Amino acid sequence: MNILTEYEIEHGPFLKGQVERAKLLKYTVKKDYETSRTIAFTVGKDEKHSVMYNKTKHEWSCDCRWFSMKSTYCSHILAVHLYLQR
Ligand SMILES: [Zn+2]
Repeated sequence: MNILTEYEIEHGPFLKGQVERAKLLKYTVKKDYETSRTIAFTVGKDEKHSVMYNKTKHEWSCDCRWFSMKSTYCSHILAVHLYLQR
């Protein structure tokens, strides 16, 4: 699994507000389950989103609006990356 480091997230092509949100959301990340193909996480406290990692395609996805519109990393996916670094 290719996980972005905190440095890469802070200096990557992400919006500043998105990175700040990811840092807060990091503390709400829970790993739901893992199968041979998928790892699933829940991110958020009041508003929850499902972040999935597809192990065969090596792809991240999220069910939020941002991801469905832009199909680039949203703050939820970035939060999971930060969470996995601990
Ligand atoms: Zn998202």
